[in-house]
Parts: sequence; structure tokens; C-alpha cells
Amino acid sequence: MKKYFVLTLLFLILFGGLYCQEISLSRIEPPFWWTGLKNPELQLLVCGKNIGQTDVSVYTPEIKLKLVHVMENPDYLFLDLLISENAEPKSFPITFYKEGKKVAEYLFELRGRETGSAARKSFDASDVIYLLMPDRFSNGDAGNDKLQGFLETADRMNPDGRHGGDIKGIQNHLDYIKELGATAIWITPLLENNMKKYSYHGYSTTDYYKIDPRFGTNDDYLTLSYNIHRKGLKLIMDMVLNHCGSQHWWIADPPAKDWLNNWPKFTRTSYRSSTVTDPYVSEADKDKFIRGWFDNSMPDLNQHNPFLANYLIQNSIWWIEFAGLDGIRLDTYPYSYKDFMSRWDRAILAEYPNFNIVGECWLTTPAGISRWQKGAQNRDGYDSNLPSVFDFALYDALRLGFKESDGWSNGISRLYEILSQDFLYSDPSHIVTFADNHDVTRYMESQGEDARKLKMAMAFLLTSRGIPQIYYGTEVLMTTGAKNGDGGKRVDFPGGWPGDSVNCFSPSGRTAVQNEMYDYLHNLLNWRKDKEVIHTGKLTQFIPRDGVYVYFRYNDKETVMIAMNNNENEVKTIERGRYSEFLDKFTHGTDVVTGEAINDLSNIPLQPKTARIIELKK
Ligand code: CA
Repeated sequence: MKKYFVLTLLFLILFGGLYCQEISLSRIEPPFWWTGLKNPELQLLVCGKNIGQTDVSVYTPEIKLKLVHVMENPDYLFLDLLISENAEPKSFPITFYKEGKKVAEYLFELRGRETGSAARKSFDASDVIYLLMPDRFSNGDAGNDKLQGFLETADRMNPDGRHGGDIKGIQNHLDYIKELGATAIWITPLLENNMKKYSYHGYSTTDYYKIDPRFGTNDDYLTLSYNIHRKGLKLIMDMVLNHCGSQHWWIADPPAKDWLNNWPKFTRTSYRSSTVTDPYVSEADKDKFIRGWFDNSMPDLNQHNPFLANYLIQNSIWWIEFAGLDGIRLDTYPYSYKDFMSRWDRAILAEYPNFNIVGECWLTTPAGISRWQKGAQNRDGYDSNLPSVFDFALYDALRLGFKESDGWSNGISRLYEILSQDFLYSDPSHIVTFADNHDVTRYMESQGEDARKLKMAMAFLLTSRGIPQIYYGTEVLMTTGAKNGDGGKRVDFPGGWPGDSVNCFSPSGRTAVQNEMYDYLHNLLNWRKDKEVIHTGKLTQFIPRDGVYVYFRYNDKETVMIAMNNNENEVKTIERGRYSEFLDKFTHGTDVVTGEAINDLSNIPLQPKTARIIELKK
């Protein structure tokens, strides 16, 4: 018996000893970087079995290994590199030693930047954003619908499942988007989401440096970006910093105990963004909103861990530089620590001063939203550094305005009232306006499928201040699917899948009313493209009266009058006298939508539930 015990002990010592010495390198992130960025510092996450027990060296004159951070978790190291200003693009080895013996090596590449990378222009009010969900837009490659090693495969019968749409599908329809007249594309997240369920929506990242193979490869994304730019369009990447997916590779073995905002048991965020600014907020409510998890499948990231903060900032810069991004849409903005978000924006704008980022600050009032825009005069001194926000207050007004009867503050007056509070925004011309998106009921559905109201909403978005965003399928009157919930808000674009019985990408596949809506948007969007008066012109609005709302956009060269009649049946006439401060300067005009010449400005008829856009001429 004793003999066996000794043998077992010997075995354990030997095996255990070997096991302890097992060292491997599984990843370094970012996987490569660039020369010539403004910030010369780079912090690498190094992950691998017992990699924390190694000594690291970098022998190259232009790159200095400043500091090696040993973590409590032996499977990680963080390396602080200093890249000299005159470093040329090159690859250099990062070598890991154990007791003087080389155990791993990584050839790290410093790439050269494209000319003009730092000065890149971004999206602004001269653009119209087309928002699409890649899984639901078009399936260009059936070969990636089911992939080995991925927990969810395509099942078009499941409204909440993956449907197989991909980068190739977007690629195939870039001409469609361009022809429609949109100038920028916001694609909901494409990064790997190897989750068991709901992986199609992309908001549960499981790898921050990898496009989900069911959408394509990193190189496919690069090609998509190239082709988007070749067509004169812009690419906006959707990023999520507040949370990751519960299947993220680091969840099982995080670099630090405080990598996530941990709770004794699962605690959901309250989704109540107002807790961040509420002067009467309880500590418990504030804490739960910020540190609570978005879902049990979406662990809350603790950006107060300095390594995670650096990781996320560098990741965003990596994608801007790698894919040549023209902008970012940032998910769940107020849900992260506000000091971190401010720092993240500042770091990105330091590298790309003209860059635009729009944050999802889902609050319902201009006061609540405007405090998050860069330059806001907040009493607490907070500046988020976020260039743009979504106008959720206007979204609410658009939902109600055209279906309510008109009154002092109801009906079309809602639009007037929202705009009258623009003094709160540091730059109201730079906020993103929309009637719907992937998180809400489609606008058509919300208006009882009344296309007249959709046209009014679009006319408003495309002529008022701000950067309009249109949800895919709006142009063909897409409505919410049979299923309630998110799946219904995100139904497949008809014709996006081989064998679809209806193909709305082609005029012949659309019904007469769909073509009418398509043409309406197509004409307005293409008209808007070079209308500086809409992009940067001033705005003057008149108090709505009897359901008629009139506003003007103007600059030194041009003036456009927009007039809306919100009455259900009554034809109205634009009373010249009331708008004489503008109309007296002009003798005639042209209706942008119908092309009709208007030779008498004194008596312009306005059909019920209609918007007229009239270019005024002297
Ligand atoms: Ca596919």
C-alpha cells in the first residue's frame, strides 16, 4: 500500500511540475498596430497558459518595452510599448522566456497608415444614413450559414434566430443603397457573437477583433469598406463598450477579478438612463443602472479597470484604422461609466479630429439628451466629448404628431415644440434624427400603415436640422412582422434571399404603393444630396396653426419652404401674409416632390396629410 502511495505522490509531483511549467501563447491584442498615431503608447493584452510566468523582451530600436504588468491571473500579461515617432512600418518579435529559455514568440506588425488617415472626414448633416441589420438584409453567401464551432446556425423560420444575411449580401446591394440616395451606411454589429441564442443581433460580442465568420471575414469587411468608399458612400461601425457576450473568450478566465461588474447574483440594469443626471437619484438606483447587466447573456464590463479601458479605446482605434471607418455608432452610451466614455471619445478625437460618433443616449427629452453632446454647458462641468447623439425626443414627437388631432401642444405642434428647445444642444445641426430603428416598432406600423404619415415624417427628417437616418425597408413600406418583439422589428428584406418570392430590390418586384414610396424617397434623397441649404442653412419655423406647420431653410443663395398640413381631410392654403418675411422676397417656386411650377405664391394649396417642399425663386 505504501509503495503505491509513494508512486502516486511521485507521479503527482512529476506531472504537476510539468503541468505548472506548461506555457503557451494564445493571443496578443491588438494583433497589430500602426506607426504614426498621435499617441505613441500601446498596451498589448497577452493571453496564454501561464504566460504571466515569463520574462518578455522586445529588441528593436524604435520600440521600447516600457513596462510589463503581471496580473493576478497568470494567464495574462499587459505590455506597455512606446513607439518612437520615427518608427518605420516593420514587424518585430516579442519574445517570452522562462528561466532563460525561449518559450514563445509573436511577430508583431507595425503597419504604415494610409495618407490622410488622421484627417479623415466623417458623416454630417450633408449625409443620410441607411441603417441595416446584416443578418436581415441579404444572404449573399449560403456557405457561411452553418459553420462548425458556432453555437447557432441559420434558421429563417425562427424570428429570433439567425437568418443567414451577411457582408456579401450588403456588398451585392450597395448600388441599391446608392441609387436610393443614402450616403452613409450604419450596419449593426458584425463582430463575432458566438452565442447560443439571439446571436443575429450582434450586441453580445465574443471577440472584439474578429468579424463573425457567419457574416464574413475581417478581409471581407475591408473589401466592403473599400467598395462602399469607391461608390462615394460612408461606413459607420456599430460598437458596444458597455457589455460583451457571456460566451466571450475571456469570461471563463478573465484577466482580473474586477474585469466585469460582478454581483452576488444576476442583477439587471434598470435601463433608466436618467439616473445618471437625476439630482435626487438614490445611490442604489444609480449603481444598478451603471453596474447592472444588460441581460444575463450580456455581462457588464468594468471600464474602471484601467487595462480594460485601454483595451476598449485601442480596439475602437484599431477598427477605424483597419477598416477606414467614417464614423461610429456607440451603443448604450450612458450605461458605461461617464468618465470612461468621455476619455474614450477624447482619445478617438485626438487621433481623428474630424471624426463623428453618435451615441445611443435613449432619453425622451431634449434636456436629457443634450447633456451628452460634446460641448454641452452642464452645471456639473461634465463633457462627454461625444460629437453626436440620437434625437429620441424628436422620434417620440414624430410618432405622435401625425396621428393626433392638433392642439396647443399636440399633433404637429410636437415637432415645433421639440425644435424650439434646440437651444439646449451645443450643436443641434449635428444630431441624428430618425423615425424608427431596429429597437422600435417600424414607423409604418406605428401609423396604422398610413403611408401619407410616413411621407410627412420623411419630408420632415430630410428637410429639418440634423443628420437623418432611415431604417432599411422604409422605402418599400416594410412593416413589423407577424411576431411581436425584436424579431418582428427586424424582418428580412424581401428579395434578400435566393428564392424569395418577392424581390423589393427591383421596381418590378415592388407593388405600386411600394414604388410610390420608393420614388418619393429616391427623389427627395437625391435632391438633398447637394442642397447646402438643407445641410448647413438656417432654419426659421412658424407656430403651427390649424394643423398647418411651415418652416424655412435658407442661406445666402437659396431658400426652401416646407409646409405641412396635418388635417385628415381639410385642404388648406398657405397664407402669404403670415409668412411674408420670407415669401415677399420671392415671386415663384418649384415643388421638389412633384416638380410642379408654382407661379403664384399667394395662394399655395396644401392637401390634407401632406408635406410640400418648395424651392423659392426670385
Ligand atoms: Ca450567409
